[in-house]
Amino acid sequence: MNDDILDFLRQLIAFKSVSSDTSQAENSRKTAEYIKSNLEIIGVHADLMENETKGKNPLVFGKLGEDPEKKTILFYSHYDVQPAEIADGWDTDPFILTEKEDGYVYGRGTDDDKGPIVATIFAIKELVKDHGSLPVNLRILYEGEEESSSGGFEETVLRNKDYFGQVDGIMILDTSWFTDGQPSLDYGFRGITYLGVEIEGPSSDQHSGMVGGTIREPLIDLIYLMSRFVDLEGKVLVDGFYDKVKPLTDEETKLYENLEFSLQEYKDSIGISKVLVEDSTTTLMNMWRNPCLSIHGIEGAFSGAGGKTVVPGKVIGKVSMRLVPDQEPEEITKLFTKFVEAEFKKLHSPNQLTITPLGSGDWWLGNVNNFLFTSGKVALKQYWKIEPSFARSGGSIPIIPFMESTFNAPAIGIGIGQPSDGAHGQNERIRIKNLVGGKEVIKLMLTNIAEQS
Ligand SMILES: [Zn+2]
Repeated sequence: MNDDILDFLRQLIAFKSVSSDTSQAENSRKTAEYIKSNLEIIGVHADLMENETKGKNPLVFGKLGEDPEKKTILFYSHYDVQPAEIADGWDTDPFILTEKEDGYVYGRGTDDDKGPIVATIFAIKELVKDHGSLPVNLRILYEGEEESSSGGFEETVLRNKDYFGQVDGIMILDTSWFTDGQPSLDYGFRGITYLGVEIEGPSSDQHSGMVGGTIREPLIDLIYLMSRFVDLEGKVLVDGFYDKVKPLTDEETKLYENLEFSLQEYKDSIGISKVLVEDSTTTLMNMWRNPCLSIHGIEGAFSGAGGKTVVPGKVIGKVSMRLVPDQEPEEITKLFTKFVEAEFKKLHSPNQLTITPLGSGDWWLGNVNNFLFTSGKVALKQYWKIEPSFARSGGSIPIIPFMESTFNAPAIGIGIGQPSDGAHGQNERIRIKNLVGGKEVIKLMLTNIAEQS
């Protein structure tokens, strides 16, 4: 194995493990094999696990240590990446790791999520080298389909669950710091339910010169309906929507005090002058701990340039709701359906309404007082000499609640890179300081976990 952390990252970046592009499946397999063989070199028992869903990329499982006196920690990351082409606006070849004078290395996957894999493997390697063994029993679970909705992940993990044995804690290395200057530990993601609201009228698209003024147009029905989902202050109007939202406690409010969040920078970054509530803590809470409803588009409606006098025969409104504890996606989907059906009835329309769930995922909320967070907080402070923040995200990573329930163990999110790294974007990068720091923090954290227990 290469002794240089950047050389190892360079090798990994060179594999085009783009999961959304099935023509790269062979590259994804090679990435998995390369990780497996490097785990073996440092003494970890590693296996390539075929994905239970045909055509999906394999997973890498690994284990080291069976000491009943030690805690067993499972590491999760993903080796697949988002697509990237020079033509997208990259300054350098996205699959050639390029070091620049700004202290960063550039390449697809440097931040998301190959850098964290490299930091983890080097942390394990150095701990074993220095102490002869790890302070914890180690389990590795890397997937190659995260950027494609983790296809086959749950089935493959459930089928091979016994491989891991009893797990005490799950470390998710697939997030980033809260700000470029403040390391953070992640304790929550929102859930989601996504639906299509279909209105069908005429059996095909019509000309407004023929049917305009004579029929109830499906698109007009749909816009009437969609205008009733949420008010202009962002309040979701679905009956019972907020019933299960956990009330805010003093303990939770305190977690927002130490956050270096600039409302102005947030507004600048999205190019707006005003948010719904001009207060930074409320805005963060609206992003992280409050639910919301968004309207994404209308399938079947004319959206090209210029004018076209078509009256669509069938349109589908695309709507999603981000959910928070204790809103269950299934229950919210039912409430939404009931609400929309009742509202549609009020329109006395001859058209047909069909509501189709298009996907959902559970929220996750970690316990910031458990051993993972206490040892993580100490480790970040020890290394960076900065008070770390506890952060949530408005997005969704449904595999986290899945792993918590499957392994009956708590999870924690540990970011290695910075939010400005441009994960998924052009010129993705990671600061070398963060890569090395991430490795050191993992070492400190595992040591702290062992000392606590
Ligand atoms: Zn990722």
